[in-house]
Amino acid sequence: MSKWFDESEFVCKCCGQLPPNGIDQNLLNLLDDIREAVGTSLTVNCGYRCAQHNAEVGGVPDSQHNGNPCTAADIDATDVGVEELAQLAETAGADGVGRYFGEAGTFCHIDVRSGRIGDTVRWTEGI
Ligand SMILES: [Zn+2]
Ligand SMILES: [Zn+2]
Repeated sequence: MSKWFDESEFVCKCCGQLPPNGIDQNLLNLLDDIREAVGTSLTVNCGYRCAQHNAEVGGVPDSQHNGNPCTAADIDATDVGVEELAQLAETAGADGVGRYFGEAGTFCHIDVRSGRIGDTVRWTEGI
């Protein structure tokens, strides 16, 4: 359960499906924390991706977006830039934080790959 997000915001863009185990609760907690840190609207651009859609968008085969439960989300905030959003995500305890500045737009990938403990994995793409 999430305070700010509904599971319908995480369905696969191509087929509308969610994995059998839904969305990881740690991810929902993290998103709630980030939403409150941002203090403004936070959009989930991409949550779950079925294997076919994941392949279509060039995701790695073991993408966190294709997990069961899903442990990743790509997010965007109207009033906050990607760098600041990534910083807030890290402060909130995200394990994976990706900053994307590509043709598809700018957004931040967050995930809870190790259950919100351990080292943060960071990367930047598209610059
Ligand atoms: Zn799909
Ligand atoms: Zn992502």
